[in-house]
Amino acid sequence: TTPSPFTYEALPMRVRLGPGAVAQLSEEITGAGLQRVLILCSPEQQDVGESIATALGDQAAEVYPHARMHGPVEVAAAARERARQLGADGCVAVGGGSAIGLGKAIALEHGLPIIAVPTTYAGSEMTTVWGLTDNGRKRTGKDRRVLPVSVLYDPELTISLPPQVSATSGMNALAHAVEALYAPDSSPIINLMAEEGVRALYTALPAVVADGTDLEARTEALYGAWLCGACLGATTMSLHHKLCHTLGGMFDLPHAATHTVVLPHALAYNQPEAPRAVAALKRALDINSDPATALWELAGRLGAPRSLHELGMAESAIDAAIEAAMTSPYANPRPVTTEGLRHLLSAAWAGKPPT
Ligand code: NAD
Repeated sequence: TTPSPFTYEALPMRVRLGPGAVAQLSEEITGAGLQRVLILCSPEQQDVGESIATALGDQAAEVYPHARMHGPVEVAAAARERARQLGADGCVAVGGGSAIGLGKAIALEHGLPIIAVPTTYAGSEMTTVWGLTDNGRKRTGKDRRVLPVSVLYDPELTISLPPQVSATSGMNALAHAVEALYAPDSSPIINLMAEEGVRALYTALPAVVADGTDLEARTEALYGAWLCGACLGATTMSLHHKLCHTLGGMFDLPHAATHTVVLPHALAYNQPEAPRAVAALKRALDINSDPATALWELAGRLGAPRSLHELGMAESAIDAAIEAAMTSPYANPRPVTTEGLRHLLSAAWAGKPPT
């Protein structure tokens, strides 16, 4: 069918993907016109940061292993100050959304270019979205300055990602593509990436969880995560992402696991009003049945959490979550109602199949 008129804005960056890609980091740094970069990572990945710094020699100013989830403002302020003291002219962010988020926090104020080396499937490296948390309140915004100039996807660095984190992080990536398929600002270009991203992750994740050292599956998963991240970067997210943001902020739930639990239910809620997304998902998953159920079953096969209950949320908190989720309106294929949210969240809390 002929596409309806649409707008698509490509985000400028270089991407390299493949086993051993991180060996090209020095060349990427030079290519970006940088001389002395600060290496950012989470405390748990300090060893990876150190080995990268050793390989870079004089191009590395220091390893700064203090990234934390949700971007606390005090962590961001300390990292900016350290980058200034060291005279760093750029950052290399190695790790998941937390490390890349710290690079974004520095870029937002100091404009230092970021080279990202993602080691999870969260997709932050493909977006202009930043997030900072102050006193338990998370603010997000969009700014071109926080978009990495270059991204190196090296599946060898994901071998150490534990099966559980691989599973939930992969489901997090799938959520970006799912919501892009019914986004108000989607386009045929994004639909192509979303469909291919879903196909790649749906195929790769069971293999990755069965054997974390399967380099082919790890490469396929990282490729899928890239495409899904690009979908996130190009479109406006709806009910699923807003709900996860609300739940994560209110009850301090783990980011990727919350996405894993909520996704099948949010999709089931929207499916009746998103027939083209449903058709695309059926093609991507290679099924004739219900995509929301297929994603719920995938989470089960991956041994990933399927209930908010097991993530530590109290059943009595459902009402407060509904109230918070109803406060700010946003685009969604199906109108968001209190009764609809209660149905969705009750099932997600209990770990029931989506309906
Ligand atoms: P994360 O970055 O917090 O990583 C989780 C844990 O896994 C960390 O301890 C990390 O050190 C460890 N880890 C990462 N890669 C590893 C590997 N290969 N081997 C072993 N351990 C590894 O988690 P995440 O899910 O990637 O990111 C979540 C954060 O990113 C949230 O704060 C979320 O809001 C943000 N995020 C932002 C965007 C955006 O567009 N701005 C997109 C997605 C996520």
